[in-house]
Amino acid sequence: MKALVFDEKLRIDDVPMPVLGPGEALVKVLAAGICNTDIEIKHGYMGFLGVPGHEFVGIVEHASNEFLMGKRVVGEINCVCHVCDWCRMEMPHHCSNRTVLGIAGRNGAFAEYVALPEENLHLVPGSIRDDVAVFTEPLAAAFRITEQILVEPEDRVIVLGDGKLGQLVAQTLTLASKNTVCVGRHSWKLELLSRLGIATALDTDPLEPGADVVVEATGRAEGLTRALELVRPEGTIVLKTTVAGTTPVHFAQPVVNEIRIVGSRCGPFRPALEALAMGTVEVRPMISESYDLADGVQAMARAEDPGVMKVLLHM
Ligand SMILES: [Zn+2]
Ligand SMILES: [Zn+2]
Repeated sequence: MKALVFDEKLRIDDVPMPVLGPGEALVKVLAAGICNTDIEIKHGYMGFLGVPGHEFVGIVEHASNEFLMGKRVVGEINCVCHVCDWCRMEMPHHCSNRTVLGIAGRNGAFAEYVALPEENLHLVPGSIRDDVAVFTEPLAAAFRITEQILVEPEDRVIVLGDGKLGQLVAQTLTLASKNTVCVGRHSWKLELLSRLGIATALDTDPLEPGADVVVEATGRAEGLTRALELVRPEGTIVLKTTVAGTTPVHFAQPVVNEIRIVGSRCGPFRPALEALAMGTVEVRPMISESYDLADGVQAMARAEDPGVMKVLLHM
């Protein structure tokens, strides 16, 4: 099969079909999205070698569960052991033996076919188009926040970052509190949100501190310092940025102000699929460009351009 392969260099190549492990399904990939994590992988993140790609939609071609055969699916990316301490404590996405689709120990979806445990698959409602379904995984990560913390309708919420994840977070948190503002550096990106009726501000605009919740999704380690300036005493900071960098922070400040800092990663697929089906979250304006898998190297280069948002691959 054809795949985009990273082995310290990106190339399109013919590779063997995935070998199915026990309980795994074979999925023919229809479309996949390029995420910042894929770009980080290209720069050596996680030391991953193989086929990247973890945001996809596809058709099940082989599964032991006959009900899944021929169904259109999206898939959760953490493949877990069910027997380690964290799995048994109902925290499977922290499984100490996990592989992660296209990120750690498992080939991903920038290929004609991908293998995933059947338990990871979710059926996609017919009303969700392929290029929209690709957003299920990153949107689930945005919905993780309201699984972790309570956001009240009257809470003042600031989302730092107007990139792909920041925009999904701003949309999901607006469902919880209308008093949500997304802060970014790019007026054209913020414009995509304001067209949806979501409040925005430029990074350089004066912002009133004292927010109940600040979500850091800037993709830069320094975002934490900014979040600490904006959150109220006993408020909550949610960290969404996964970046290899470090940043000096004023260490006493979160202690003195008794700030709750919550790390946040992968989230629930069900509310994400519901939001896409109901149209309560709108992802299509974020799609900048689409490429054939054959042009995957070019697509990855394009996805790094600050002038684009989501780049899709079509198989
Ligand atoms: Zn991702
Ligand atoms: Zn486990």
